[in-house]
Formats: sequence, C-alpha cells, structure tokens
Amino acid sequence: MSLIQIQNYINGNLVDAISGNALSNVNPATGEIFAMIPDSDSADVLEAIEAAKCAQADWSNMPMETRFDWIMKIANGIQARFDEFVLAESTDNGKPTWLAAQSDIPRAISNFKFFASAQMNFPSESHHTPGQGLNYTLRRPLGVVGCISPWNLPLYLFSWKIAPALAAGNTVVAKPSEITPYTSYLLSTVCKEIDFPKGVLNVVHGLGAKVGQAIVEHKDIKAVAFTGGTQTGRIINEICARQFKKVSLELGGKNPNIIFDDANLEEAVDTTIRSSFNNQGQICLCGSRIFVQESIYEAFKSLFIKRVEALTVGDPYTDINLGAVVSQDHQQKILSYIQLAKEEGGTILTGGEAFHPEGRCKNGFFIKPTVIEGLSHLCRVNQEEIFGPVVTLTPFKSEVYAIEMANSTPYGLACSIWTQDVKKAHQVAEQIESGIVWINTWMVRDLRTPFGGMKESGMGREGGFEAMRFFTEPKNVFVKY
Ligand code: NAD
Repeated sequence: MSLIQIQNYINGNLVDAISGNALSNVNPATGEIFAMIPDSDSADVLEAIEAAKCAQADWSNMPMETRFDWIMKIANGIQARFDEFVLAESTDNGKPTWLAAQSDIPRAISNFKFFASAQMNFPSESHHTPGQGLNYTLRRPLGVVGCISPWNLPLYLFSWKIAPALAAGNTVVAKPSEITPYTSYLLSTVCKEIDFPKGVLNVVHGLGAKVGQAIVEHKDIKAVAFTGGTQTGRIINEICARQFKKVSLELGGKNPNIIFDDANLEEAVDTTIRSSFNNQGQICLCGSRIFVQESIYEAFKSLFIKRVEALTVGDPYTDINLGAVVSQDHQQKILSYIQLAKEEGGTILTGGEAFHPEGRCKNGFFIKPTVIEGLSHLCRVNQEEIFGPVVTLTPFKSEVYAIEMANSTPYGLACSIWTQDVKKAHQVAEQIESGIVWINTWMVRDLRTPFGGMKESGMGREGGFEAMRFFTEPKNVFVKY
C-alpha cells in the first residue's frame, strides 16, 4: 500500500516542507509506517507567519456573522467526512474506532460550532464612574497566534485551541503533534475544499523543538496556547516570559479518585473503569491514583479487578475496550514504570505487561490494563505522570488523610470524589488542589466552564469566555461626561 503524504497548509495551499525532508508516521496498532509528514523547520514557520499576518486585517474586521459562517463551514466539512476522520484518528493514535466516533471527532465538530457562536455572544463590559463618566472595555484580537497540541486527543485538542483563536478574530499558525498529524491534515483538506480564506489558518507539521519552538520564539506570534507535557510547558513559558508574550499552558496530571465508604459502589467502579482505562489511560483527565476508604477497600478492589480482567485489548478497528498505546517509546516508558512499581514494593494485582494480539496487530504496541497496590503515595509511581493504562489502589482511613494524599503531587488538574454525603462532597471539593473536580462522575464536560490545571498542571484557563478572553486584548476607554 502506498504511503499517505501529509502536507503543510500554508496560505491556503497544501505544500511539502521547503527542505523537502519528511518524517515517517507509524500506526501504533501494527507498528507499520503508514504516512510521511513534512519535517518542517523555521523557514516553513516563517512563511506561515507571513501568510497569517497578511490575512489578519480582513479576518479580524469581518462581520461576526460572516466569521460564524466560515467556522461553521469547517464544522460541517468535518461532519460530512465523519467516517474518514474516525478511521484516521484511530489509525494514527491506536485508539478504538468506537472511541474516536463517540468522542474525538464529535467533540472536534462541537469545538468549532461552540466558538463560532461564542464570538457572537461574547459580551463587552462597561463600568460607570459616578459623576465623571463611563468606561467601556474594547476587546480586540491579538493578531497572529500560535497553537500547539499533543498526541492523545489529536483533533479534539487541536480544534479546542484553533477554534477560539479564529473565533476571536486572530489568524493562526498551528502545530499538531508529529506523532498524530493525520486528522489535522484532513482538517486542512476540509479548509481547502470550502475555500477557507487564505492564510487565516496555517498548519505546519514537524518536530516540537524545530517547528513548535520556532513558532513560540517568533516576535510576531502574539500569544501561544499550548497543551502537552509539563517539561515542554516550562521551556515554552520561559521563552514567552522573556518576550512578555501571553501564554496558556495545559500540562500533565496525576489525578486522584477519592472513593468514600458511602459511595454508590457499582457506579464508582463502573466510572473508575472508564477514568482509568479510556483511551488506554492516555487522557490528561484520567484518574491514575485511586484512594478508597478502608472499610470498603476489599469490596471495591475485588469488584474493580473483576471488571478490569473482563476488559479486552486488541485491534482498534474491532469491538475491543483498549487499543494500542501511541508509540513504541511510550509503551516502553509505561512498562518501565510498571517495573519501577515492583522495585518500589508494589504488588501487581492484574496486567503488568505488554499484550501481543494475533493477526494484523501482532507487532503493535499494546499494554494490559494494570492495577497496582501496596505503594506509598509519595513514591515515584504515585508522583510522576505515567499516562498509560496503569492505576494504583491505596486505602485511606479519614477524609483528612485522603485530601493530604490527593494533594501530595506537583500536579493539580482533575479529581473525582465519590460520596452520597453532599456536605462532605462540597467540603472535599473545596480543599482539593485541582482546576477541575467531579462529584460522583468523571469527564462530564460543558464547554462553557473554565478548563485548566493548578500547580505544574498549567497556567491559565481554556473553555467558554475564558478562551475568548485569552485570545483578545482588553483596552479600557474612558468617556467623560
Ligand atoms: P509534548 O510536550 O511532548 O508535546 C506536545 C506538543 O508540543 C507537540 O506538538 C510537540 O511537538 C510540541 N513540542 C515539543 N517540544 C517543543 C518545544 N520545545 N517548543 C514548542 N513545542 C514543542 O507532549 P505529548 O507527549 O505530545 O503529550 C502528552 C502530555 O500532554 C501529557 O503530559 C499530558 O498530560 C499532556 N496533556 C495535557 C492536557 C491538559 O489539558 N492539561 C491535555 C492532553 C494532554
């Protein structure tokens, strides 16, 4: 089968890297190269920034309704090729097709629809200064902005950045992960099909240190919206700080699930299965540290393990629960943490090794869903982000101790609390150091709510008007009367 040739999208054209160099793109479920992507560099980024600068005035001054129409055309263009996007996301990332069809692609479509409408509803503020006059706040687009996204929810997170950036009237230079570039390429083919205005959205493929960093460093990039690892976020933050550049960072996590003894056990187990192993545990919001109150610890454990052992792993195109993890390197990283757990005194209750399916996927990168117990909450396995189908179980006696363990990592992204006691739920939610808390559920997302992390999980918030505020510059105007 011939390889798919992924191209950059610059100034409305689909083009190869100027250098002509390319990188290979592997299907993690088979281990085979299925596509080539441009190995771009600062020369390609420069062309994209120039195109975005030229397109800026027309795009930002366009009537809101026309901009709404354009962004909706992107959403409808993805919808019209829904099955193609689903298959592409699964092939590129290793995730089950059912998950791409239920979550990734519908959510990418929603992101465009949501922000197309948000820009029409985004209110401006005014403040009356009694006896003197009136202040009003203008919010203008920033100009050309950079959007950089990771591999775990490729189109979902790529669109979560570029949709508000475009809606707010900016033009965009975007870089998807080099590990999962396929659906962002398909998105650029949709833009081409609908004749989206040239230069408004530019997609440059390639390595983070070459392409991503060139975007971040360029003086004409007015803001950077980044989702990815904490270490990369630190590098980007330092560069932006030197230039006083606006930056939004959505970074790693090590999220706790706290299950109290008055929780609905069936529901808690059911949802914890999803929060542990959805997308092979590769969602920044996955709960990887499960704290269970002592009196129900054994009951939870036996039910949970039974359910985990019933999960199926294998060919993402079939009706399995878990597909492949994203790459061989990532598989090795996850396995090294399982080894570390053993060295740190943990007991593997189930899983704990790679999985080798028969047939088409025999060379793919799979890991059995893994549950570990017997570890200190302060050991490396419970402090560092693994980002795979690996969770730990830890008992706790009191609420105070559960909160202390939950807050003990450098991260603070998300938390799930399970209890029937409304008072306790609110009290614990207040004390948890994370940007997002769910009570008796997980990953319910309303796109209007602020999304982001505390501590080393990030800086700033995305979602709803938070994103519209990030992508605009407020200016106060005072009128004397
Ligand atoms: P990563 O940091 O390695 O890469 C993310 C993106 O940054 C990629 O496009 C990459 O090419 C680019 N990049 C790498 N080095 C760069 C540099 N020096 N300058 C500019 N760009 C650079 O992360 P990843 O491995 O792709 O993704 C996994 C991580 O993302 C996990 O830590 C996960 O928790 C995190 N994540 C966070 C959220 C959130 O909302 N907080 C959501 C999803 C994933």
